Amino acid sequence: PARPAGLALPEALPRGALTEEEAKRLVAAYGIPVTRERFAATEAEAVAAAEAIGFPVVLKGVSRAVVHKSDLGLVRLGLRDAEALRAAHAALLAAPVPLEGVLVQEMARGEAELILGARHEPGLGPFVLVGTGGIWVEVLRDVQLAPAPLRPEDARAMLRRLALWPVLQGVRGRPALDVEAAVEALVRLSWLAADLGPRLVELDLNPILLRAAGEGCIAVDARATLA
Ligand code: ADP
Ligand code: MG
Repeated sequence: PARPAGLALPEALPRGALTEEEAKRLVAAYGIPVTRERFAATEAEAVAAAEAIGFPVVLKGVSRAVVHKSDLGLVRLGLRDAEALRAAHAALLAAPVPLEGVLVQEMARGEAELILGARHEPGLGPFVLVGTGGIWVEVLRDVQLAPAPLRPEDARAMLRRLALWPVLQGVRGRPALDVEAAVEALVRLSWLAADLGPRLVELDLNPILLRAAGEGCIAVDARATLA
């Protein structure tokens, strides 16, 4: 496969379980669009961050120990103003897990949620996956797996094999979605997986929101573990 221009690993790679912010920085270095966001240690910092990003915002509790933030009430969507933000901040701090702080991020829109994943299989090498994303991933199991790196035509073929494919093409008067943006993100993730090699334990973008054709995609959540 031909490598897209300008892809290179950052000089200092974090190790172990990465925070959402660290994982997004890594995929953003490979040209995958991610939410604008800022870490905040206090309520005042969170309000300042939201004003810089622009309302509405999303507030998430940051803890490396948590796998599914929404299960613990650590994701607060669509906060419209400083008052709503302060209330959400207080609610997060009352959660039964110790938080390192909060992440304030732009509220993104999309027509469908995909999961993009990558891992190094010992003895087999780097793999990527794409599937129907969101909180029902494990239940729906609509995923396609392939060795990395991918050519764009390989990525397109994986998307076509998903049960979600007719939705991506537009059904019931809904617009056709930006399949080419998903292809581009999957190819770029596959090069990241190839470049990380055995250091990549696992990486998931779940979900990456796909918009109407021509409007792109954006990863709103990211998790990664590096050796
Ligand atoms: P979890 O750790 O539970 O997977 P996520 O960060 O994925 O937490 O958030 C849960 C859900 O909230 C996502 O599947 C998505 O639907 C929605 N969501 C999260 N962040 C954003 C955002 N920045 N903009 C819009 N929707 C979001
Ligand atoms: Mg998620």
